[in-house]
Amino acid sequence: MTSEEWESLCDGCGRCCLNKLEDWDTGEIYWTDIACSQLDCETCRCKSYENRFEIVPDCIDLTLEKVEELPWLPPTCAYRLIGERKDLPDWHPLVTGRPESVHEAGVSVRGRIEPEGDLKPEDYEDHLVYWPGEDV
Ligand code: SF4
Ligand code: SF4
Repeated sequence: MTSEEWESLCDGCGRCCLNKLEDWDTGEIYWTDIACSQLDCETCRCKSYENRFEIVPDCIDLTLEKVEELPWLPPTCAYRLIGERKDLPDWHPLVTGRPESVHEAGVSVRGRIEPEGDLKPEDYEDHLVYWPGEDV
């Protein structure tokens, strides 16, 4: 698979670019509706994709090997689905040929998030949310 093909698997949901909280005792991951500073809340795309690792050092470079180590990836994420040898859903932009289909399917974070902005870490617990397909 070429790097372009690999990149095209991303459906643009924006869910991996949200802040998460981890329970230190159980390791459980909890999602928030707080977006990374570089996420465009309307397009759900990274505003600094080319140099994202310089701006957000803990941004993750998704590789097939890495995907298997990231159980928190959304169940709808194409990288996770590929890792689990599953088919892409019928709303995936590669299936529909339209980038908007991920938003129309209600899978993306569009309209449901807010930027990190001035939020403090202690505010994050007030922003825990459930995303489609998540157990928590
Ligand atoms: S969760 Fe997966 S499909 Fe969604 S934006 Fe992140 S990498 Fe792309
Ligand atoms: S830097 Fe870009 S790709 Fe990385 S988490 Fe933030 S918005 Fe997502």
